[in-house]
Amino acid sequence: MIWDFPYDSPNAIIALLESHGFAMSKKFGQNFLISSSARQKITDCLQPLTGRRVWEIGPGIGALTTLLLQNEAQVTAFEIDHGFCRILREEAFPNEDKLILIEGDALKTWHSIYGQEGVPDLIFGNLPYNIGSICIARFLESQCLPQRMVFTLQKEVGERLGAGPGSKAWSTLSILAQIDYQIEQVSLIKGSAFFPPPNVDSVVIRMEKRPQPLVKVAIRELFLQLMDDLFTQRRKTVRNNLLHGKAGSRHGKELVLQALADADIPESERAEKLGFEELLRLVEAFAIL
Ligand code: SAM
Repeated sequence: MIWDFPYDSPNAIIALLESHGFAMSKKFGQNFLISSSARQKITDCLQPLTGRRVWEIGPGIGALTTLLLQNEAQVTAFEIDHGFCRILREEAFPNEDKLILIEGDALKTWHSIYGQEGVPDLIFGNLPYNIGSICIARFLESQCLPQRMVFTLQKEVGERLGAGPGSKAWSTLSILAQIDYQIEQVSLIKGSAFFPPPNVDSVVIRMEKRPQPLVKVAIRELFLQLMDDLFTQRRKTVRNNLLHGKAGSRHGKELVLQALADADIPESERAEKLGFEELLRLVEAFAIL
C-alpha cells in the first residue's frame, strides 16, 4: 500500500520529524518540495516509468519516491540522513519490494551500486544545493550515462548545464554535460515551492542522451584535459591558459602556438567564446602533435 502523506503541508512535515525526535539539517540542503504540481511535472518528465530502473538522489521523506512507486518503477534511492532513512524504511515504504534504499553519502555509495547494477534507465533527484554540480559531473566523468537524467537544481547550476558559447555560464560543466546530452530547462520552480524556502529559485533540467557523443571516445580524455586548461582562468586568453596548463608543460610554447594556428583560433581569444566546433579543431590539432 502506498503511503498517503500530505507532502504539501509544512506542519505535517514538522510533526513527522518531531515524532521521530529530529529536525531538518541545513548542511544537507534539506528543502522539501511542497508543491504537488511541481512534483507531478517532474514525474511527467520521467515517463514512461513502468518497470524502469530509476536512481533517486536524496529522496528525503519520499515526496517524489512515492510517485515513482505508484508508477511501478524499480527505485534505488540514495539518502544521507539516517533519520529520513528510518522513516522511509519503517513508516513510508515498509515491505516495498520495488525500493532499494542506499543509506549514506550518494557521492561515496553510487559507484559500487553502479558496479553491481550497471547504468540505470533514469537518474533523477531534487538535488541538495551543495552537491548538485559535483554529483552530475561524477556521473558524466564516469560515463554512467542513462538515457535520461532529470534534476531539480539551483537555477545558476541549471543555467551552466545548458549554456552555450559566448555566455558567462559556458563552462567545463556545460561542455562535459553537452558532450553526451541534450539539455532542456523544463520549468522554473520558485523558492516558495520548497519548505523551508531557499533564497534562490530552482530549475528542472531534463538531459536526454545523444545518439552519438559530440566527442569521439578516442580523443575524449585529451579533450577534457584541454578544457580544464582552457577554462582555468576565464579572464585569461586561450594562449595563456594553455601555456600555463598541462598542454604547455607537455608540449612547450612553440607547439601550443602551432596547435592554435592549425585550429585557426586566435591566441588572444577567450575560451568562453569557443563552441564545440572550434574546441574539437583544437583538440585534433593537439592530437597530431
Ligand atoms: N526529494 C525530497 C523532496 O524533493 O522533497 C528531498 C530533497 S532535499 C532538496 C535533498 C535531499 O538530499 C535531502 O533528503 C538530503 O538529506 C539528501 N542529501 C543531501 N546530501 C546528500 C548526499 N550527499 N547523499 C545522499 N543524499 C543527500
